[in-house]
Amino acid sequence: MNIDSIQNGVVIDHIKAGQGMKLYHLLKLDETELSVAIIRNVTSGKMGKKDIIKIDADIPLNLDIVAYVDPGATVNIIRSGELVEKRQMELPEILTDVLYCKNPRCITSTEQELHHVFKLEDREKKVYRCLYCETKAGG
Ligand code: ZN
Repeated sequence: MNIDSIQNGVVIDHIKAGQGMKLYHLLKLDETELSVAIIRNVTSGKMGKKDIIKIDADIPLNLDIVAYVDPGATVNIIRSGELVEKRQMELPEILTDVLYCKNPRCITSTEQELHHVFKLEDREKKVYRCLYCETKAGG
């Protein structure tokens, strides 16, 4: 694909350099047949270096994952070659099925159908706690 001329798709911009691949995997883009470009270590006036992910398809993305990995990222939605929406990310208060509770005694370990829900405890330190057993994650 010509990465500069996405007609319908999503461009995740201003990703902290080095986080692009992580985001790519967490969004499970490696499991799709979509045309995806990861541009790494782009020189950016504001940030020094950044990563960019361009997805040549208008697919629903779990933006909570983007916001969790890099709250500084921006998500641009492109339709018919035009930028129709620009979203600034911020750390979500609640994460569902992004983090997984590692406590073997947690109810989510025994009840497989339960969603893994984490609640933001400390925005500065990026600390989340399991909603069920309060085990800490992230940071
Ligand atoms: Zn738990």
